[in-house]
Amino acid sequence: MQPISAALATRGIVPPGYRLRIPGPAPVPERVRAALALPVISHRGPEFHSLLKETTRELRTVFGTQSDIFLIGASGTGAMEAALANVLSPRAAVVLLLDGQFSERFAAIAAAMGASVDGSESPWGEAPDPAQVEKRAKARRYRAVVCVHNESSTGAVADVAAIGTVLRELDTLLIVDSVSGVGGIEMRMDEWGIDILVGASQKALMCPPGLAFIAASERAMRVSMAATGVPRFYFDFRKAKASLDKAETPFTPPVSLVMAQREALAMMAEEGLSNVLARHLSLAAALRAGCEALGLKVFPSAHALSPTVTVLALPDGFNASKIVRHMHERYRTVIAGQRTRLSGRVIRFGTMGFVHADDIITDLDHLESTLGDLGYVSPSGTGVRAAKEILARS
Ligand code: PLP
Repeated sequence: MQPISAALATRGIVPPGYRLRIPGPAPVPERVRAALALPVISHRGPEFHSLLKETTRELRTVFGTQSDIFLIGASGTGAMEAALANVLSPRAAVVLLLDGQFSERFAAIAAAMGASVDGSESPWGEAPDPAQVEKRAKARRYRAVVCVHNESSTGAVADVAAIGTVLRELDTLLIVDSVSGVGGIEMRMDEWGIDILVGASQKALMCPPGLAFIAASERAMRVSMAATGVPRFYFDFRKAKASLDKAETPFTPPVSLVMAQREALAMMAEEGLSNVLARHLSLAAALRAGCEALGLKVFPSAHALSPTVTVLALPDGFNASKIVRHMHERYRTVIAGQRTRLSGRVIRFGTMGFVHADDIITDLDHLESTLGDLGYVSPSGTGVRAAKEILARS
């Protein structure tokens, strides 16, 4: 993990040794933070035009698409809202694949727009079942099937390729939130038949929060151009498209974040996208092995394990908030609990973006020490040893 700048540390904002290990926002490399400090440029000038062109070109590679990608100054939820506002109308029917907190949020946004929302539920920790999706999607004429690629609340990954396959013959859009996935998990938007893909800067894409991305297929753009149902202004794809064709955004974009995102994408290209994805897989596997060696249980089912978010169920008698608090106060390692249905039952780590083997080893060292301090285990280095075995194989 990169050193925290002395200036900020001495101002007391970021304590020395602070380690950001939650499932986003995720750590930002020093090179990307340096890009944030560049002079602000005009968003209507040639410098921004080339910046935006280069950034969207690199994003297309990571998203696996030839389609347009719109940048908006918003968090991931803003992009979720934009995705729906551009293709829904009141009473339009949508299927929501409900398997965790963020798909529930997507359902709430669709309901707020007056859509008729049919849930297709999976138990939390399971991925949506493509056969169940097919059955549901064929039962009625739906405007869209909406799902979360990487459910950060449970650590389960949906098989979006399989969902895309079952929808291929239907006149139904596939809308996917990959806010905590894209950049850290394979994504092939065009090949998998995704119509709208939502991402955000602060997760595997290694930037601070504040910038969100929406890729829209030709089919999604056609629906959006014709849609009149949900009032939209800031998030209107029609405005975004007209501006993007001039290498601009309709409103003032967070230019510094775009510069940072360009730098982060350059780092990913230098490492090589396939190496980036392989690193995520191996770090997540090492962290899971280490945690299991400490007696914790991986929460999601085995076929749906996320490479970017590791969610661990605690044995009876372990207190999640005590663990999270102690890790922070004593070791400065900031991990997450869960605030909705799994509250108190799980702890969560991010393994996304700028994370390396030494981070995982330190995580396990701090976790084992915490469990020892709280009297839950007798520390003996088993977690670190198990992780090192996995890391030695990659
Ligand atoms: N979707 C997923 C899967 C997420 O993990 C998050 C944030 O953690 C969001 C959406 C919402 O993003 P934001 O908090 O940037 O609005």
